Amino acid sequence: MNNRMDFLKSMIQDLKDRNLYSELPVLGTEQKNRVVLNGKEVIIMCTNNYLGFANHPRLREAAKKAIDTWGFGTGAVRQIAGTMEIHIQLEEMLAEYKCTESSLVFVAGIAANRGTIQALMGEEDAIISDELNHGSIIDGVRLTKSKRVVYPHLDMSGLKKALLETKDARRRLIVTDGVFSMDGDIAPLDQIVELAEEFDAIVMVDDAHGDGVLGKDGRGIVDHFGLEGRVDIDMGTLSKAFGCLGGYIAGRKELKDYLINTARSFIYTTAHPPSVPAAAMEAIRMIQDEPQHLQQLWENMRYFKKGMTDLGFDIGHSQTPITPVMAGESKAAVELSRQLFEEGLFAKPIVFPLVAKDKARVRINVTAQHTGDDLDEALDIFERVGKRMKLI
Ligand SMILES: *Cc1c(COP(=O)(O)O)cnc(C)c1O
Repeated sequence: MNNRMDFLKSMIQDLKDRNLYSELPVLGTEQKNRVVLNGKEVIIMCTNNYLGFANHPRLREAAKKAIDTWGFGTGAVRQIAGTMEIHIQLEEMLAEYKCTESSLVFVAGIAANRGTIQALMGEEDAIISDELNHGSIIDGVRLTKSKRVVYPHLDMSGLKKALLETKDARRRLIVTDGVFSMDGDIAPLDQIVELAEEFDAIVMVDDAHGDGVLGKDGRGIVDHFGLEGRVDIDMGTLSKAFGCLGGYIAGRKELKDYLINTARSFIYTTAHPPSVPAAAMEAIRMIQDEPQHLQQLWENMRYFKKGMTDLGFDIGHSQTPITPVMAGESKAAVELSRQLFEEGLFAKPIVFPLVAKDKARVRINVTAQHTGDDLDEALDIFERVGKRMKLI
């Protein structure tokens, strides 16, 4: 064996020194409120399976039926021969659900963001982006030659300044997360849309954590603010609350038609197995005819957050089920996560540079599947570990 790859040893050591290295945690069970993880039974509190759909019988059944009818694989990219009627049915259903003319499904949310931004924005254009936007948006921006302006998190005067600065651009795109994944705060999309209208800029919102969580029947942030028809590019994922896999772009029909022909992450990848659109459609039906899941999610969230606040934890200013439990420096967050796991609760640490140096945390996501017992036990564990670590 030669030594050409030995450099990885020191690079891994460097990650370890910065608390940025971890092994993959492995589930020994299906995804649900309590799982076996690395061989230990724990309450899992860091999934995006908000509504508990990932293992729901209705989705399983829908997927099985689609396998019987359509087979397992698709054998081709969407554009060549991989598109089945079931993919089109999902896109029509999503468009109706999101109140847009059309929608286009990509293999994942990251592919939707990368492909869409890259396809729409050229050298003469400018992209205006919130500083805390998701990595997949940042990737999309990096794939373009557009001018980039990053504005301070949620800062509308910063956004206005960016719009004034870029008035010579051919086209301008304002892009923002709807719900920010680290803090659980919500973008002021109503104000963003007003500024965009004043300055004639395109608005794109990434609703990954708003889909199935915010708005009527989980329709997301556009519904939450009542902005139907005023957001040009409504991006979402089927991977989180919907419990499936995939990303999508909803908007005008021309947007879909153009992306089909130009978005590289759409063109150069094989279509989803038909079981995926089948399960996703069942998820959208279920959100609408079983409202109890969404109600339970918000009830659980309120119960858990109140419990944590009463215990004296700093849980930030989240307006959604995402609940950051502040630990301080990176090392403290890693230690908090380790001790929680020992006591039977799994949640990953989030450390610098993903968040500010002194704002390292364990991020908790409560789901609709957590029972009262799960939440009480989780609060007990937090109390014990929090006291031991002098966080409370
Ligand atoms: C998870 C996430 C994505 C990526 O979605 P996938 O379908 O998992 O690829 C994109 N944007 C945001 C804000 C996310 O949280």
